[in-house]
Order: sequence, then C-alpha cells, then structure tokens
Amino acid sequence: MSDLYLTGFERVLFPVWEGVIRGRPTLSLRKHLEQTQWRSRDELQAIQIGALRSLLRHAARNVPLYRERFAASGIAPESIHTVEDLAKVPLLTRDEAIDTRARRTATSGATVAVNKSTGGTTGQPMQFGYDLPSEHWRQAMRLRGWGWAGHRTGARTLHYWGMPSRPALAQRMKIGIDRMLKRELYVDCTQRSDEAMTAAARTIARFQPESLICFTQAAVDLARHILTHSLRAWESVAVLCCAERLFPDDRRILKEAFGENVFETYGCREVMLIGSECDRHDGLHLSVENLVVEVIVREHGTTRAARPGETGEVVITDLHNYAMPFIRYLNGDLAVAGPVDECACGRRLPRIASVEGRVADTLRDGNGGRVSGLMFNVIFTPLAADVRQFQAVQARDGSVTIKLVPMRPLDEKTREMIRKKCAEKLPGVSVKTEVVGEIPLSRSGKRQVTIVER
Ligand SMILES: [Zn+2]
Repeated sequence: MSDLYLTGFERVLFPVWEGVIRGRPTLSLRKHLEQTQWRSRDELQAIQIGALRSLLRHAARNVPLYRERFAASGIAPESIHTVEDLAKVPLLTRDEAIDTRARRTATSGATVAVNKSTGGTTGQPMQFGYDLPSEHWRQAMRLRGWGWAGHRTGARTLHYWGMPSRPALAQRMKIGIDRMLKRELYVDCTQRSDEAMTAAARTIARFQPESLICFTQAAVDLARHILTHSLRAWESVAVLCCAERLFPDDRRILKEAFGENVFETYGCREVMLIGSECDRHDGLHLSVENLVVEVIVREHGTTRAARPGETGEVVITDLHNYAMPFIRYLNGDLAVAGPVDECACGRRLPRIASVEGRVADTLRDGNGGRVSGLMFNVIFTPLAADVRQFQAVQARDGSVTIKLVPMRPLDEKTREMIRKKCAEKLPGVSVKTEVVGEIPLSRSGKRQVTIVER
C-alpha cells in the first residue's frame, strides 16, 4: 500500500512519540515479541517459567498478601519449577481481589503508576493498579495480537466502543494527540437506534478505516443494520472483535458487512490482551510471554486443568505487574481449553478454543431500540469504590431495576446519579435503583450483568 503517512508514521513519528516523548519502550518490546512468537514450545515455556519465578520471589518478599498466603500454605517460590507447579498456589477470587487491594500492593520493588477500574463482565466493579513496565508489556502484547489481524498503528482505525466517562482536560489533550497521530476515530456503540447506526455506517464510509475495533455484539447489530439498509460503501475492513463473545453466526454476518477478515480477540481490563486469533482462525493464541493462562475445572472440592474441548474457569497470572500482582486470579470468564496440536500458522504459542463468558443481554428503550447491556459495565467502571456488585433487570413492562450491593452505605446523591446515567441510555424507560444484600447467581452458576424478563 502506498501510504506515505503510514510509512512515515511507522518509521519516524510513532517511534519518536512513543520512545522519546512518552518514554515508552513499547516498540522494542514488540520487536522482541515478534521474535519470541516463532520460538519452540520449550523455549516459550522457559521464558514463561523464568518470569513466573521472578514474580513469585518478588511477591513472597514484597507483597503482604502473598507473603502471608505462601507462608500459610507452605509454598516456597523456589519450589515452583514448572507452570503445572503453580497449581499449588491458592486461587484469588474476584471478591478477594476487591478486598485485598491494599495488601496486594507491593511495599517495595515496584510502584503503582496506572490506577484503573473495571465494571467487569460479572457485575462486580473493581479498582486495581499496575506499574509502568507492565503497561509497556500490555501495549506491546496488544500491538502484536492485533497485528495478526492486519491492524497497524498509524493506519486508519475506527473504534466502535463503549465510551467511558470524560477524562480531565490535560488527559483529554494527550489522548487527542495520540489518536490524531495514530489516526484513530471513536464512535459510541452503546446507542443502537436506527439513526445512530446509520450515522455510524456513514462515518465508516467517510473515514474508510483499515480496521474496526469493536464490542462484538454492537458490531453485529451494526452489520445487520448495514445489510438491511444496503449501507456498505467500502471494500474490506478488518474486524477485531473484543469485549464480548463472537458466535459463529455473528462471524458470518460481520463478513457479509465488512469483508472476510474477522478476528476474535480476548482480554480483560485487569491484564489487557489475553489471546488473539491468527489468520488461521483456529483458536486464540495466548499472550504467554506476559501471562500464565490456565483453564480449570472445580468439582467435588477439587481443582484440575480442563481437558482440551472442555469448558472451565479462566485463571490469570500477570507476569509483569509487580506493583499489585494478580497471581492465579479468577477473572470470572469461562473458556474452552485447547486445541493442543500445532497451529498451521507456525506459531507455537498455546491456544484456547474459545471464550464462553462475556454475554450481556440486550435491553430495549422506550421506542423499542436495542441498548447493549455492556453499557452498564461502562457506567459502573468509575464506581468501583461505591458498588461491589450490580445487576440490571428489565421487566416485561419495560421498566428497569438496577440492583446494587454497595461497598458502603450509598447516599441518595450517588443513587440518583446512577439512576440518571442509566436512564440517559434508556430513553422512555422508567429506571429505579434497589439496594440489596446480595445478587444470586443464575441457575447455570454464572453472575449476570443483565436479565431481560420475557
Ligand atoms: Zn496460529
């Protein structure tokens, strides 16, 4: 492709912006990762176990929670020689991760540089932090994974995404420059009225992006709208599906609307990219240089690794976040383990078959318009200090009740703010909040962010 801006961006602008101005070694790390992805299984395991042992040594020395946990269960980091040995370390549930934030913060050896929160796909908002080296690993890993889908930083990219709350002015300016240089455009995907989707399709036609990075179900809705109203006015746009599950039928619809290049990716805000599809679309290659990803089955009081093809709970160990480690963290998602044969692409990075969690029901506004249940994750992300758990229930008459399990007694102002933010996204619908002691799991044992009564 003869795109002078892109060539200049890749060779000069981006390295200067990232390396010199923002002081990020993201690009040299990415170069490293471009090489390691072709290494043998043994070499990849050696890289992973080396990083894991360092992390465990650091955690035992400098992180109060892990010092206590390792002592209580008699674990010495030196006794961990393989990734399988990691099974000796106790799991960290999401509730525990929320409650132990202070005791998971390192007392030395690393400092929290980035504070974030997440609404979570399970309706349990959480605050967490990580250090700068971890940020560089995250960014480099994301660039590599998205690169498999043909995404290039600096090439026109449209994000069809849930918009977080407005950051401060200085932060907005920094983000603005970053996006302008990278030629990224953001369109709010939580609005699904016909007008909003027609406007989004027009924006795509005008902007002609190379890739579309999207909330999966939002893009599927948009694709259906594009096909129904014959709005496709582009050759081919690579679609990178994030944040929600991609069902086989979704892939077919996305291909019809955007072209053949549809890729599933899997990540969570706590650690960012966990896995990505390569061009063979045969499972998701895991980010093993940055994470240990286990898929486990807990039954009859025991825990074991899921067999290939079997669904289990996702357990994550973040290898480079020393400031607030996540070690064997149950992030609330379910995934299908395997496949174990080698991918035809030649990469030896292990894979998971698919991700089962991350399903949010679609609600209806007063005009019958579709509203993604994921907007609640966006609304509750900045409220992690106030709300432990939430669930939105839409009754048959259309009215919505937001159930809240508060972290501390919620004042009337916060409740009203939550009600107003939800009502804004659901025009014509009566919205009320209700404080409850707990939110029961569904019959399948899952936590649901949204329930639409039919
Ligand atoms: Zn592959």
